[in-house]
Amino acid sequence: MAVHAHPDDESSKGAATTAKYAAEGDDVLVVSLTGGERGSILNPAMDVPGILDRIDDVRREEMAAAAKALGVRHRWLGFVDSGLPEGDPLPPVPEGSFALVPLEEATEALVRVVREFRPHVMTTYDENGGYPHPDHIMCHKVSMAAFEAAGDPERFPDAGEPWTPLKLYYNHGFSLQRLETFADEYDRIDEPFPMRDWMERIRKAAQEHGDVMSRVTTQIDCGKYFPQRDEALRAHATQIDPNGMFFAIPLEMQQRLWPTEEFELARTRVRTAIPETDLFAGIRDAEDADAEDRAADDRAADRAVEGTVR
Ligand SMILES: [Zn+2]
Repeated sequence: MAVHAHPDDESSKGAATTAKYAAEGDDVLVVSLTGGERGSILNPAMDVPGILDRIDDVRREEMAAAAKALGVRHRWLGFVDSGLPEGDPLPPVPEGSFALVPLEEATEALVRVVREFRPHVMTTYDENGGYPHPDHIMCHKVSMAAFEAAGDPERFPDAGEPWTPLKLYYNHGFSLQRLETFADEYDRIDEPFPMRDWMERIRKAAQEHGDVMSRVTTQIDCGKYFPQRDEALRAHATQIDPNGMFFAIPLEMQQRLWPTEEFELARTRVRTAIPETDLFAGIRDAEDADAEDRAADDRAADRAVEGTVR
């Protein structure tokens, strides 16, 4: 279960990983906590009359197309986008926004979906929200609270049968090391690096908090699914400029030099060894071990039966 703040976040954070697991036969659900109602139109080609009037519908259609591209199921949780406050001092977020919903209320809504879908693994954002949007910070808080509460029969008794998810990860997409790898390649082929400004921003953030790579525990090899990730991104046509930086680096170069997505194991209820290359590490192993135990028990039972017959 991939928990995200807005429609389009699922396509820019860990998207190829969800596409990979879905393609391999796992049941993958993306949960969008808000409807993205306050996202501004970031693609000049879509900034045309008629789009803003029906932006809610447009974003629903975009999200459905993105989920289809990734091959995942999708659920809206129905909270209202807080928007990204801008200015100095920052204005308050509008009344009724997701960031102002009491944590218990938002947690219960997510617990209900966890108990229904019964995920083994959840993904969300770190305590900084990945980037400081109030809905992303709230997404972190709600996911952590739901991960703790879903298996507890005392918590939210009206929100379904308890279910205990086993692992919880943070997405880590903004790695300086990754950008530097591409920048080196552009130096090598003697061409200007198209993401230099963005890299400098990430470098500044890394100077403050350290590169997110120092927090990464788990890298998922998913380069094969980058085309699906890009198709999902393009489906969010009002939010993503097809000429923008998301598409600046050729797919072939990404697949060759950095074919992974990065995660941080934040909570686990199973034993696993770091570094990992699979979000289900320690879960499938445990299931296999259980199956072996059961098979051994069956064999022992068979022998016991044989013994009585004789
Ligand atoms: Zn977002």
